[in-house]
Amino acid sequence: MTVFDKLIARTLPYVPKPLVWQFSKPYVAGNTIDDAVRVVKELNAEKVMATIDVLGEFIHSTDQVAPTVETYKKVLDVIDKEQLEANISIKLTAFGLLLDKEFCADSVMNLIGYANSKYNNFVRIDMEDSACTDDTIEIYERARKQFPKTGLVIQAYLRRSMADVQRLIQEAPAKPDPNLRICKGIYIEPEEIAFKDRQEIRQSFVDLVEMMIKNGRYVGIATHDEWVVTETEKIIKKYNAQPDQYEYQMLLGVLPDLRRKIQANGHRVRVYVPFGKDWYGYCTRRLKENPALAGHVLKNLVKPKK
Ligand SMILES: Cc1cc2nc3c(=O)[nH]c(=O)nc-3n(C[C@H](O)[C@H](O)[C@H](O)COP(=O)(O)OP(=O)(O)OC[C@H]3O[C@@H](n4cnc5c(N)ncnc54)[C@H](O)[C@@H]3O)c2cc1C
Repeated sequence: MTVFDKLIARTLPYVPKPLVWQFSKPYVAGNTIDDAVRVVKELNAEKVMATIDVLGEFIHSTDQVAPTVETYKKVLDVIDKEQLEANISIKLTAFGLLLDKEFCADSVMNLIGYANSKYNNFVRIDMEDSACTDDTIEIYERARKQFPKTGLVIQAYLRRSMADVQRLIQEAPAKPDPNLRICKGIYIEPEEIAFKDRQEIRQSFVDLVEMMIKNGRYVGIATHDEWVVTETEKIIKKYNAQPDQYEYQMLLGVLPDLRRKIQANGHRVRVYVPFGKDWYGYCTRRLKENPALAGHVLKNLVKPKK
């Protein structure tokens, strides 16, 4: 990370929103469901699956939950109507996890029930910061008992994750459950609970994927790290996992060339497609994680137009 990039990361909170939007555009489908549908159709045309995320998290009142549930239901309706190859990803804080856990669980159950029962569609519960980990796993386990098409995310940087995955595998009723997305983790966590060393996080990621694949469980391998892609490909080969037992997952706007390479190697890929007016929190996290991107965009903005 250059000094320039570090400066951008630090000053981000003071950057005017319209300018942050310039940096953020590649990561977000747009403000509306129609924008998400357009982007998912483009991805599907390239044989890429999608998972749609309605942006919004850390709400201040449980009154804000009903509109989110309704928007997600509309997304599920349109996925069915347009026959999109897509499911949905949700963040429990947007359903009130930090305000009222039982209210959150009821709202999430309502949505997952709608997705599973009406459309036989799948809902992935994203993982947020460590204040949410226990409750997120608990609500996931409750949901999965009623609705099999429910999945969870596990973060490789958390020291606890291998124990969580082992327990979830042991307690899962039948293969391919539990259906887990493994990612590195994007929040800033203390060293006592999280690996900090890049290679340790990578190794944890690969070990978690191996634990899933060797036990015949469905895994979403969510990364743009070529080292992790190569190592997980070795695991897929070692256990002769078939392409319908796992998928690679990537974020909209991040390294499309790597995505095509993964597809060319015979793997399925799903892209995370966020949309909505509340893009700011999502995008500033991505920019803080990868300020080099902000640097490139800024350079393009100030470059004289031909
Ligand atoms: C589908 C999906 C779902 C996710 N869900 C969650 C979740 O529920 N909870 C959670 O904590 N985290 C989630 N993440 C984020 C994840 O934890 C990582 O923070 C992120 O994927 C970066 O890790 P990496 O494995 O790509 O490796 P990195 O080493 O961070 O990235 C490898 C390379 O990819 C490129 N790259 C990575 N990120 C970006 C970016 N934002 N912009 C531009 N280039 C980039 C860079 O070239 C970088 O060198 C998700 C990621 C994906 C792909």
